[in-house]
Amino acid sequence: MTEIDFGSHFSTLLATLAHKALSPKSRLNWIYLLSALIMALYAYRTYDLPGKRRSLREYLFPRSVWLHSSALTDYLFVAVTLPAWSLLVVPTLMSAPQVSQHLLSAIQNWLGPAAPNATPTATIALLYSAALIIATDFKLYWVHRLMHRVPMLWEFHKVHHSAEVLTPISFYRSHPVDMLLQAMAEAIITGFVTATFLYVFPQGLAPVTILGVNVFRFAFYLFGANLRHSHIWLSFGPAVEHVVISPAQHQIHHSSDPRHFDRNFGSEFAVWDWIFGTLYVPQRQETLSLGLGKEETRRLGSAWQLLINPFRAVARRASAAAIGGSPVR
Ligand SMILES: [Zn+2]
Ligand SMILES: [Zn+2]
Repeated sequence: MTEIDFGSHFSTLLATLAHKALSPKSRLNWIYLLSALIMALYAYRTYDLPGKRRSLREYLFPRSVWLHSSALTDYLFVAVTLPAWSLLVVPTLMSAPQVSQHLLSAIQNWLGPAAPNATPTATIALLYSAALIIATDFKLYWVHRLMHRVPMLWEFHKVHHSAEVLTPISFYRSHPVDMLLQAMAEAIITGFVTATFLYVFPQGLAPVTILGVNVFRFAFYLFGANLRHSHIWLSFGPAVEHVVISPAQHQIHHSSDPRHFDRNFGSEFAVWDWIFGTLYVPQRQETLSLGLGKEETRRLGSAWQLLINPFRAVARRASAAAIGGSPVR
């Protein structure tokens, strides 16, 4: 009989968390957590108005959020899934270099080799960095929207929406199937962009990076990525929120108010929501309640249920041949 080695799992978890805190490629890197803290201090002065003024500690770390049963479930869920995801699942997937290599060969066979051109390396690097971030974000928008609209996929994405409070850890409250689909789509879109650029600019290719991270993604992580999953309301103002998704807009995406359903699917840019009619721009600070309601909370209340119940729900749907129909949130 196979035994689960909890000691080994725990040391893998610690190594994974240490890596996430130190790697600039992780949104939990200390630099991004520090910048989120600075932005939270700005929000404290701006939004936590006199009359409901709380101490800074109560504002940043309320027990009602960080020790809420939903948050505790997040921590346990992440403790179980994160090491497996980081160390086992991702490396076995198809990778962007594999996809780009195959696509590049196909394009070259189809169109013949491209002639080298005199475009400056810095221009290529900047164009490539921007193309990667725009294409990836476009992919995130549509995969996310499909996750909401296709009933079978919604069963898996519900895991993320079942959180009743948000902390930066809630970002990782995503079912492995949800993450797997996003990772596969990411490999395809990144491979597609890279193959196209390698064909047009055969002289070589490298994105503009800061600490090894695409400069545009670095900016996204730096400017409040970790506040999107938090209790701290921070709006960028209506004009900017048509272009870039603010923390407040993503919190609205998690709202249980029907007015907010299926709004703000975007990850970094709001333009996709704006173009395709799913944008919600708050006009003032809103008090939100989050989650999916009592029934779903009962069904998705523990780490084990978060992992297993989506498969059960999909099996039920399949056996009832009840796929399709009206959009299910
Ligand atoms: Zn969603
Ligand atoms: Zn979210």
